[in-house]
Amino acid sequence: MKSIIKDIRKDRRMSFIMYEDYRKCMLCPRECGADRINNIGYCGASGEMYAARAALHFWEEPCISGDRGSGAVFFSGCPLRCVYCQNYHISAGGSGKAVSEQRLTEIFFELKEQGAENINLDTGHQYLKQIKSSEAETKRQNIGLNLLFT
Ligand code: SF4
Repeated sequence: MKSIIKDIRKDRRMSFIMYEDYRKCMLCPRECGADRINNIGYCGASGEMYAARAALHFWEEPCISGDRGSGAVFFSGCPLRCVYCQNYHISAGGSGKAVSEQRLTEIFFELKEQGAENINLDTGHQYLKQIKSSEAETKRQNIGLNLLFT
């Protein structure tokens, strides 16, 4: 299966949009107050969005994966740090590449082209502001798929 993330390394249009709220981040219920401009938060995230994998995913609940697979994007970092996490190398292990909001929008449409039943945002809470921006553009371009947080 083609890895979309590999293409991100070649993305010369990478843009880094910093949100003022990230100077004292209270974005998730953890409310750690980290300065994500100069540091990382409890979740391991700086102000720059990172993701480790984007592909059709067939192993969610059947109502999510459906017949054609869920269009899953696995974001790096996580505010929860569950000891039993099955994606530990992504959620806490530092795996991933920087992804611009524009590139994330492109990834959503590439997953649709591959036949995704929906767009599945896996552990993306710490990047909610960037994701919302990409979501708005995705809807503006009428992607016609539901975006799910899992
Ligand atoms: S998203 Fe990350 S930096 Fe922000 S409050 Fe939650 S754990 Fe802290």
